[in-house]
Amino acid sequence: MFNIVIFGAPGSGKGTQSDKIIERYGFMHVSSGELLRDHIAHDTQFGRIADSYISQGMLIPDELMIRILIDHLDANADRIKNGLILDGFPRTVNQAIEFDSGIDDHQISVDAVIGLEANDEELVKRLLKRGIDSGRTDDNLEVIQRRLKVYHDQTAPLRDYYLERGLYCPINGEGSVDDIFAAITRELDVRLMRKNANK
Ligand code: ATP
Ligand code: MG
Repeated sequence: MFNIVIFGAPGSGKGTQSDKIIERYGFMHVSSGELLRDHIAHDTQFGRIADSYISQGMLIPDELMIRILIDHLDANADRIKNGLILDGFPRTVNQAIEFDSGIDDHQISVDAVIGLEANDEELVKRLLKRGIDSGRTDDNLEVIQRRLKVYHDQTAPLRDYYLERGLYCPINGEGSVDDIFAAITRELDVRLMRKNANK
């Protein structure tokens, strides 16, 4: 099994590129943002707590995020065997450490981290545009600016965490969707081949 993390700031294109990666490689998509929005839509106890953070552009507490993730992995134990693409998780160094030490019964190794890099000005532009039809409560200028600050403070340090482990693949996130995807497949194909050769 081959597992990847897709990493980048809000609006960097993680969801868009995840869809294309899944289509080509058949991994299962685990989007933390979608999981949380699902809980909110069903008005679960977790969802109500999550909503109070998300609508303010803050991260939800690590323990809650990990609890929700474990429930989802448990419910999909068969599907995750073909490999996973983690989108939006981990988002703090603490989440990465917990995940790497094995959460519950799930010992899932990260084989590559695709880092989509784009500048803040471009990100704000994209998120404002998305906000027009997404209906997401967090896609408005004030909350977008908070999310970017949270990204730089709490999530960006993860880049070093994965660089040190030789897993981080920087990808220029500012070209066309297809050009970015082509750069991603070049990285993934090399790493997949290397992993299979070492089996
Ligand atoms: P993108 O536009 O690249 O998909 P995003 O930041 O706009 O990224 P989501 O990944 O959907 O959006 O996350 C939305 C919100 O959900 C975050 O702002 C945060 O409040 C919460 N969230 C998502 N993942 C996590 C996580 N791993 N830890 C804590 N909070 C999270
Ligand atoms: Mg997303």
